[in-house]
Amino acid sequence: MAGNPFINILEFPDFPAMTPAAAEEAMPKLLADAKARVDAIESGASADWAGFVLALDDAVRPLYEAWGLVGHLLSTCNSEEWRAVEAKWQPELVAFSLRVGQSRKFHDLAAELRSKLPGDAPPARRRILDKMIQGYELSGVALDGEKKKRFNEVAASLAKLSADFRDHVLDATKTFRLPVSEAQLDGVPEQVRAMARRKDGGFEATIEDAMYVPLMKHCRDRSVRERLYRARSTRASSGTTDNAPLIDGILSLRREKAKLLGFKDPADLSLSTKCAPSAAAVFKMIDDLAAASRPAAKREKSALVAFAAEAAKRGDGNGDMAPWDVSYYAERQRESLYSYSEEELSRYFNFPVVLEGLFKLAGRLFGVSISPADWSAPVWHKDVRFFRVGDEDGRTIAHFYLDPYSRPETKQGGAWMNEFRTRNVRPDGKVELPLAVICCNQALPDAEGRCLMTFREVETLFHEFGHALQHMLTRVDDGGASGLNLVDWDAVEVASQFMENWCVDSATLSRFAFHVDTHAPLPASLLEKVRAARNYRAGTACLRQLAFAKTDMLLHSESFSGEPEDVKRSVFADYDVPMIPEDRFLNSFTHIFAGGYAAGYYGYKWSEVMSADVFGAFEEAGLSDEEAVRRVGRRYRDTFLALGGSVDPMEVFRRFRGRAPAIDALLRQQGLK
Ligand code: ZN
Repeated sequence: MAGNPFINILEFPDFPAMTPAAAEEAMPKLLADAKARVDAIESGASADWAGFVLALDDAVRPLYEAWGLVGHLLSTCNSEEWRAVEAKWQPELVAFSLRVGQSRKFHDLAAELRSKLPGDAPPARRRILDKMIQGYELSGVALDGEKKKRFNEVAASLAKLSADFRDHVLDATKTFRLPVSEAQLDGVPEQVRAMARRKDGGFEATIEDAMYVPLMKHCRDRSVRERLYRARSTRASSGTTDNAPLIDGILSLRREKAKLLGFKDPADLSLSTKCAPSAAAVFKMIDDLAAASRPAAKREKSALVAFAAEAAKRGDGNGDMAPWDVSYYAERQRESLYSYSEEELSRYFNFPVVLEGLFKLAGRLFGVSISPADWSAPVWHKDVRFFRVGDEDGRTIAHFYLDPYSRPETKQGGAWMNEFRTRNVRPDGKVELPLAVICCNQALPDAEGRCLMTFREVETLFHEFGHALQHMLTRVDDGGASGLNLVDWDAVEVASQFMENWCVDSATLSRFAFHVDTHAPLPASLLEKVRAARNYRAGTACLRQLAFAKTDMLLHSESFSGEPEDVKRSVFADYDVPMIPEDRFLNSFTHIFAGGYAAGYYGYKWSEVMSADVFGAFEEAGLSDEEAVRRVGRRYRDTFLALGGSVDPMEVFRRFRGRAPAIDALLRQQGLK
């Protein structure tokens, strides 16, 4: 057992030895040890940093680190065996974290320690304790008797209703199938036609994302688009999968939960854990952005109507602009305005060269050096790379893995960044360094060894690397608040979205975007098209996101009463979001009714405003002025990247920018100003 790779996790985990059988063997011992140590702390701890906070962290860490690695292997080397490990131990892990998270004793210890904390204690410790106490309070630990009983009932009902809501949407989506002829799929990309093909040779259209989105853009047959649109926008609104009663139930239970915890409404409860200062501030951001987007959205709408009329003259459709025509004509208009071939563009993005360019950018901005260290760490797949991150003075400050390629059989789709270990300084002075992993799903190199990336893949790589940088360049010594730990949810995308901006910066591209065959630099005219295409219909897109965010906030506010549908209807009408009278968008709004986004959907825009404003500081200093880029880059490193979750993100922003976030940079970058 001592040699079990999940029990004795090395500085760089021994992935080849981490088999499902090894995990099976380790889990009972890890769980039993963690439980015993937590029990011991609960019965004997004193309210001091080492005896409580560090001891608790030491008690749970071996279990959570091992479980994190199991999760990683599930998403990168998936198999029946790994899934069996997850199914068996997941409930135990959930029960264990509830047991720790709902301990009255731990809450009281944290509160006592917080009240005794000396004025000169590191701010990170104050924040760790504040967030700990808040976590205990929000799990109902301070409630007694009847209130406690009711709180637990409400929590259980909410979990059940949310799961039912999600299942209804999945079922309603799956059951809808529309038989179509091959001719009706005229204009649809081959990949999507292949998805629609049935075993008997016929075709069937569905309303699942992967098929619905491209069909609405490309299917020339209006009647097919109309039927798909109607089915999709009325999902889960009748029969056994009707979500309307669930929405009422969820909203009323959330109000009750907020009241039990002493909040005015669910919006206030949600905002208490986020960096946006108040619901009023969120509504103000929504209103300000909406006001600024309206004129652009209006122009975009009339331009599209005119375009559709022209297209109809050429025999493409009848020029009508029903909701099921918008995506179709918008896609035609986008093609005609910014016609460049994705394939031609990808010839300027050869993966090894892009990676080199990304590392050089990190050097220019933050003074770090990134070098291969593949020989020093075992990996879970032969294509995985390993890198060392060095500081300006040559000291090693972090390591990370990069798993770049798609493996559809065993690897989860999409892209993500994950952390295996956080920076932490032990009481004896020993420094534990951050260890991160970036996973993407690019195509494998071709026969000639070329590995061309789509522009979207380049942006994704930069995005995930931005998350990893915030995790790795932290200077916080207390593990509980270092790296990404305690970065509020509505600020967690700032560091990642910030990095995406550099993908369209000409000075940056001039260092790595070379044609794979001719080595010619990316032509300025092509870059202009890419930039313009990014902002295509930006006003309309922004209003749509704001309509979702505002509806979400209103439904979770004290002032809400009556029918949720009426709230949606009036916001959508105000924000000019197309809908049919039978629309039941809320019935499939899983983000807020089955996910973690209740009174939090605004977070997408909130962090976008912040990251655009951060990049704005570089624009103001001058993107072609290398010394200015270096200077602002170091300031960003010393604030956003160094402080991570140890300080409120709004305060971090203030230290970087010298003021509160403003919407102007976002409007400027998206061409809305
Ligand atoms: Zn992200």
